[in-house]
Amino acid sequence: MPFDDTIAAIATAPGVGGIGIIRVSGPLSEAIARLLFRSPKGAFPLKSHQLYHGRIISPSTEAILDEALITLMREPRSYTGEDLLEIQGHGSPLILEAVLTEVIRAGARLAAPGEFTRRAFLNNRIDLTQAEALMGLMTARTSRSLDIAHAQLQGALSCRIEAFRQSLIAILATLEAAIDFSEDDGGHTPPNGAAAQIRDVSDGIRELLSTCKEGALIRKGASAVIIGRPNVGKSSLLNRLLGENRAIVTAIPGTTRDFIEESIDIHGIAVRLTDTAGLRNPDNIIEKEGIERVWGKLSTADVIIAVFDGSMPLAGEDRDILEKTKSHNIVPVINKSDLDHLLNDRALQAWLPDAEPLWISAKTGFGIPALKENIYRRLTGEQAEQAAEIVITQIRHKTALEKTIGHLQQAQASLADAMSFEFIAFDLREALDSLGEIVGVTTSEDVLDRIFSTFCIGK
Ligand code: GDP
Repeated sequence: MPFDDTIAAIATAPGVGGIGIIRVSGPLSEAIARLLFRSPKGAFPLKSHQLYHGRIISPSTEAILDEALITLMREPRSYTGEDLLEIQGHGSPLILEAVLTEVIRAGARLAAPGEFTRRAFLNNRIDLTQAEALMGLMTARTSRSLDIAHAQLQGALSCRIEAFRQSLIAILATLEAAIDFSEDDGGHTPPNGAAAQIRDVSDGIRELLSTCKEGALIRKGASAVIIGRPNVGKSSLLNRLLGENRAIVTAIPGTTRDFIEESIDIHGIAVRLTDTAGLRNPDNIIEKEGIERVWGKLSTADVIIAVFDGSMPLAGEDRDILEKTKSHNIVPVINKSDLDHLLNDRALQAWLPDAEPLWISAKTGFGIPALKENIYRRLTGEQAEQAAEIVITQIRHKTALEKTIGHLQQAQASLADAMSFEFIAFDLREALDSLGEIVGVTTSEDVLDRIFSTFCIGK
């Protein structure tokens, strides 16, 4: 889709930096370079993908605005698929503003958020899942989310969706041939294997959908609250999980008065850990308030790490905690495994029908990898080793896949009821449309607006 206007924006992050880049995309890119760029060697016409050194000037006054390197990437071999000029100057906000002002005066207009990537999509340089993956790269918080975004950018998700689409197109083709044929003889025998082929596609889509839970956790992160009575080792555990001395550890019960929050990466999920005030019968109003805030915090936690002291028998305060957290997603740990084991784990287990307490030592690090594994399993319901390469992280993809399954179920029901092939073909076409929404074959303008508006200007 050729655009007749030229867009421009500062592509580097706001503020002072080593270099600052202005991007210009569209038919006026080279003309703008001619107006603003001066090189003693004479550079025009610019060779594509070549770096030129010179000065950026204000055409009206010939005043030098910056010393810069420029590159013109001619269409279609550019990010946007159209002529794209990059001006690399000094990373000063004032200089970049001045150069951008001249670029606009020379005929470009300011780009909207994500407009360069939107052009790349509309010019078929990338599909919609790849555009979303670019956003994923920029916002990734863990190395796993980066890997997932990279795989998606390389087209892993698009390929899988395309394979589903091709299977459905093949089934549709045999059905359509059978429709023509049945008009001749009035027959309604479904083509061989259509039901099995539709089931195969549905199974494949369900497999993709099974990654949604992990995908949502990767997108949003998760919260884990560490609770326990004073002195069981909550702060020590937080420090151990973080691998640094962030929380204050003392032997005086009740040191952690307020929440301490830090994030850790557990198999790709950014887990926000909150250390809380020790839960006990409060001595004073401040402590009472602190403890009430802890109970409030628990209601929003994805998982609660309940810490017990293995060097002491189960106390009344421990039982209170167990009672109050009965309906929560709880990971019980018995800390201080390096000391004599005086806590009867069977007594504890009696309170925890669906969670096995894990012995750990915040002091020595014993049991910490197993604890991370337990937290991961509590969050996702899966073992970490089963992590898939393609993970559905976007609600938009999930919704479209669920819609596709719905249409395929309808097609299967129609096949089973020996309905006319037209009905089945209709459902298959609907399923194809839903799949097409994911890669952007069939996506409405407002969905595109929503996706690209989350990008920054200059991307
Ligand atoms: P909190 O009040 O629950 O946050 O407990 P702290 O983390 O402040 O720890 C209370 C005391 O227990 C400190 O003296 C810690 O050094 C000690 N402690 C914590 N974890 C362990 C452990 O695994 N083994 C031993 N031996 N001591 C620990």
